Amino acid sequence: MTALAEALAARIRATGPMSLADYMAACLMDPRHGYYATRDPFGRGGDFITAPEISQMFGELVGLCLAQAWMDQGAPTPFVLAEPGPGRGTLMADLLRATRRVPGFHTAMRLHLVETSPTLREVQAATLGQGDVTWCDRVEDLPEAPLFLIANEFFDALPVRQFQRGQSGWRERVVGLTDDRLTLGLGPETALDELAHRLGDTQPGDIVETCAPGAAIAAHIGARIAEHGGAALIIDYGDWRALGDTFQAVAGHTTTDPLAAPGAADLTAHVDFEALARASAPAAHTRLTPQGVFLERLGIAARAETLARGLSGAALESHMAAYRRLTRAQEMGTLFKVLGLYPPGTPPPPGLEP
Ligand code: SAH
Repeated sequence: MTALAEALAARIRATGPMSLADYMAACLMDPRHGYYATRDPFGRGGDFITAPEISQMFGELVGLCLAQAWMDQGAPTPFVLAEPGPGRGTLMADLLRATRRVPGFHTAMRLHLVETSPTLREVQAATLGQGDVTWCDRVEDLPEAPLFLIANEFFDALPVRQFQRGQSGWRERVVGLTDDRLTLGLGPETALDELAHRLGDTQPGDIVETCAPGAAIAAHIGARIAEHGGAALIIDYGDWRALGDTFQAVAGHTTTDPLAAPGAADLTAHVDFEALARASAPAAHTRLTPQGVFLERLGIAARAETLARGLSGAALESHMAAYRRLTRAQEMGTLFKVLGLYPPGTPPPPGLEP
């Protein structure tokens, strides 16, 4: 048993079964044993690889998209450039390099990273330099100003609760103990106002996930953008309306049992983009767009060609493989989706449609 498994078992013995959200939060962010709190999990040697770690083109195009949105809104100065969950800081480094020549963008920008993990803050500082970066713990701590924000694979790390549909109510899936082992169980059936709208599109036995922290963060971002201007790009795997059990654990690039080794595997759930879009009102939201379509509209093919000119042999092969991986339907191109938020009455961020 891991140290965290012992601690969680003791907590369940004392206070009863815990929600999946509490379990997920402890596994990812426990200050001593949590997955993100204690390690840098990215890359080929780590547990998983994300789009900015696959190719510099991802961060570059995201940067140009946000810079164009900034210009479309009259280049407000100063503005906050924010990234929640910046991982290694790779996306931000590529974004900053690509936007260096956008007139006024860097001088107007106040760069803020939202990161709870001390280990990853150190990695981000090493990637970006301490210079002009402000770290904060929560999106709510971002200063009041026009907000241009990118969140890649951030919302999928936020704790979800799962509910199994009964005849007319819902039973929460909870983590309890059987013979001292962590096991999944079901709470009693209750009616839930926040899931009333899901009674129409589910059958008894179906599982629905909710992510209250994700909705609260989207509400905050949406309110800022509607009030001060700005734009947000939310990129993640998921769908417009989530249905089914998407809670999963990944370690060493393969999926594992989420209860087997708490704190040692990454835990995620698919993002319910409809819930984020609803919560972000009064900001306007774009259509949910496949990542491949978004990147192609922003000109990734031309960028890939330019970069390819300087490469040969294995480096060229790997560059072209990265391009395919980001855009192709069978790879990340359709599994990952992009939702844009923007102020009503302004153009949506480039690459996305109202
Ligand atoms: N965006 C990066 C990393 C994604 S992993 C990339 O694309 O490579 C998730 C990131 O979110 C990590 O940096 C993790 O430490 C951070 N994170 C997870 N939960 C968080 C929370 N509640 N608040 C702030 N950061 C969080």
